[in-house]
Order: sequence, then structure tokens, then C-alpha cells
Amino acid sequence: MRPAGTETAIPSGPGGPVEAVLFDLDGTLLELDMDRFLPVYLRRLAAWVADLFDPEDFVRQLIRATTAVMENRDRSRTNAALLYETLWAGLDPARHPGARPDRREQALVRFERFYREEFPKLQFMARRRPEAAALVEAARARGWKVVLATNPIFPMAAIAERLRWAGLDVGQFDLVTVLENMHSCKPQPDYYLEVADRIGVEPGRCLMVGNDLRQDIAPARAVGMAVYVAEGLVLHEGEPGAVDAPRGTLGQLLQWIVKSDGNRNTFANRPTLPGNNAPLE
Ligand SMILES: [Mg+2]
Repeated sequence: MRPAGTETAIPSGPGGPVEAVLFDLDGTLLELDMDRFLPVYLRRLAAWVADLFDPEDFVRQLIRATTAVMENRDRSRTNAALLYETLWAGLDPARHPGARPDRREQALVRFERFYREEFPKLQFMARRRPEAAALVEAARARGWKVVLATNPIFPMAAIAERLRWAGLDVGQFDLVTVLENMHSCKPQPDYYLEVADRIGVEPGRCLMVGNDLRQDIAPARAVGMAVYVAEGLVLHEGEPGAVDAPRGTLGQLLQWIVKSDGNRNTFANRPTLPGNNAPLE
């Protein structure tokens, strides 16, 4: 509970008034612990394609390919192109029938079906954060660009589904960073520069909201963005690049976004938020 620190650090980013807000998803807009979620997700995915890929080696190769994407600095290809290239290169067709060139298309269709039919069943591992939807709408009502700045190591289908768990929709964002549309990953500062470039807003006028001091806060700050640490599931405490970063709850951030409108706080006497923008005008 320290809005005092936040009031000075935002509304203005280092480069002037804020024009865009970037929200992390897992642990920020959505209550989801990735460290617990990932093993369950990988096990289900491997089981789903067990007739095409040896499960144990498939998971190992998928992790290897994902790591290659996260470490990649060459922005000439999308994360998806690099992920699949690395994955296919690592899977021996003698052991994985789905990796045979003539069956790869079939494998991709099966992945798609997984995200449509099986992935939604993992919702039990997540909890909606009640302020998330109001927060996104409040930022939009301010006229700011709004970005879902989740690490683009998942395909759009998996990110759109988790957004639904958060009570949100892809259409509410100017940009959702996913495997298919990005060429960089967190925690590279390059990721934040690519986002700023894509939405046409200088980094100094962006505000990054996230729960991970190493992935979200330090690199966003390094490229000159304003930052806000969303409390509740803060990761990597003590990260050198995130010292004294403003922090607070989503509720406090929401209040700040509404209050800093230049007018008085129209929510002063409202215990709960309405579901649309109208009252913000
Ligand atoms: Mg996070």
C-alpha cells in the first residue's frame, strides 16, 4: 500500500505523458503460477500427441526449442518459425512418426486441436483477478494503447484462452504478443523495443505492468519505460534492475489511472466498477 511512490513515477513516463500500457498476463492480469502450470500443460500436450511423438523426448525437445526462441537475438524470423525449425531438427523421425516431413502438417493440426479442446480444461489452475477487466477498460478509456505483453512463447490460441480465463478478450488490445507475430522474447530489452515499435509509441511513453522483476520490470526499465510492479505473485525479488520500482495492487493502479484523468475521481463513491467505459467519461 504505497500509492505515494507511484504517483510521482506515473502518469508521466520518462519521456513524457503515458500513451500506452503494457500488461503482462500470468501473475499480473491472471492469477496463474507458470512454474506450477508448465509441467501440467506439457504432460497433457505430450499425451495428446503420444501416437505421433515419443512423449518424454517430445517434451525435452519442445523445451529445448522454446529455450532457443527465448535466447534468439536474430529478429529476421518470427518466434514461431524458429520454434518449429528447432523442434523438427531435434526430433528423430525414426522415433517420432509425427516428425516425418510428410506428417508434419498432420502434427500441426493436432497441436491446434489440443489448444481448442484440451487446453481449456487447464483453467482450474488459474483464478480471475477481479480488477483485471476494469483496468484494461480504464486504460482504453484514457485513450492509451493497450498491449498484452505476455512472453510470446505460446501460440495465439493458448494466449487467447488464458485471456478468457482472465475475463478478457484479444479484441480489447491493440497488440497481443504471441509466438506467431513476434521476433523476440522477454527478458530481452529487444522485446520491449519491438512492442513499442509495433504500436508506434516511444518507449519513454510506455508503462509496463508486470509481476516478474527480471522478465517484466528490469528490461522494460532498461529501454526507458515507466514500470509498475503488480503485487500478489512477485517473482525474482532483489533483481538489481528493478530496485525501488513503484509497486502496488491492480486496484491501486486502477484508481490511479482513473484519478490521473485530470478531473476529479469519478469513482470516489463507487464501491465497484461498472463493466463498461461509459462512467469514465
Ligand atoms: Mg508474469
